[in-house]
Amino acid sequence: MTIKSDKNRRIFLSPPHIGDEEIRFVHEAFDSNYIAPLGPQVDAFEREFAEKTEIPYTVALSSGTAAMHLALRILGVKPGDEVFASTLTFIGSVSPVTFLGATPVFIDADRISWNMNPDVLAEELERCKKCSKVPKAVIPTDLYGQCADYDRIREICEPYHIPVVIDAAEACGALYKGKHAGFGAKAAVFSFNGNKIITTSGGGLLASEEKSLIEQARFLSQQARDAFPHYEHSEIGYNYRMSNVLAAIGRGQLRILDERVKAKHRIFNYYKNALKDIPGIEFMPEASYGRANRWLTVILINPEIFGADRETVRISLESENIESRPVWKPMHLQPVFKTTYPSRAVGGEIAEDLFHRGLCLPSGTAMTNEDMERVIAAILKCRM
Ligand SMILES: *Cc1c(COP(=O)(O)O)cnc(C)c1O
Repeated sequence: MTIKSDKNRRIFLSPPHIGDEEIRFVHEAFDSNYIAPLGPQVDAFEREFAEKTEIPYTVALSSGTAAMHLALRILGVKPGDEVFASTLTFIGSVSPVTFLGATPVFIDADRISWNMNPDVLAEELERCKKCSKVPKAVIPTDLYGQCADYDRIREICEPYHIPVVIDAAEACGALYKGKHAGFGAKAAVFSFNGNKIITTSGGGLLASEEKSLIEQARFLSQQARDAFPHYEHSEIGYNYRMSNVLAAIGRGQLRILDERVKAKHRIFNYYKNALKDIPGIEFMPEASYGRANRWLTVILINPEIFGADRETVRISLESENIESRPVWKPMHLQPVFKTTYPSRAVGGEIAEDLFHRGLCLPSGTAMTNEDMERVIAAILKCRM
């Protein structure tokens, strides 16, 4: 109501940002009475997503985690298998490995893109070959909306015939060598969770060039019903389909994805201009092979030079009602992968450093310059 309360309005990390068309598609869903999983909005969303990404086959699902689970199951991941994954990622990338009774192996990041380090991957595969046990799949994450080095990773995996499943959950709208994130992989996983660059409030999608892979995913996502008029099952599936109402939201969001990417770049550039000359602050780098969507603007703070560490800055922002977050805590440091699911890491020092020094700044696409000025001032105040 007053200017003062407005100045203290909470600034969120990455809130949903709905456009003008979503509600129209939701009305269509209501008018058609497809208030159900499946329906014409889901079909249209899948088709439109395929057009946007040029990945021909897609299945819309209840979450990105569900998409990863289906991909790994279809690739035959089983108890006793290993699956290589980025250590610097979100748990939804790797929890499906444990759903299938397999063991994740965590590969360190590099400093070029903060994604799976291809050199570390190559060395570890070489070593595994000598022990005659290579992983069933490799899952690079496109961290914070920047693609991993797909070509190098594929080249490394090809001689071993290991499929690459891209976790592109954060990377809608990002490009690798001019192609959309996830293009060219065995399968690619996307998420439309509420905090992602486009959202269906909650949802995910699996995409592939292989029709049969997506057909199997569709089958398993609908309780593995065999083709009978009654309910007949010769396999166990899941209830993983996207709701028709949520797909309607996704259709609207997809239409403004390019605008959202532009807005994310505007935010990144604003922060960068304001902070690039501040000693002790660096920005997440962009590899020359692609265009990141800059889902979140991420900085690294060198406490000796800046005068405060990442956690001090985060707490200080919080005291001014500004939400920020540490970079993902690497998987190899997570208690669950030491205790319940003991898993090894290959390297990990780079990911640890990025975690200890990295801070994700508020990056909502509806942020104003005044909002960003508040964040910048709050950061600069921490220098003592
Ligand atoms: C969000 C996210 C997921 C999981 O997506 P959900 O839709 O939340 O299940 C997986 N991996 C990464 C890297 C993510 O950021």
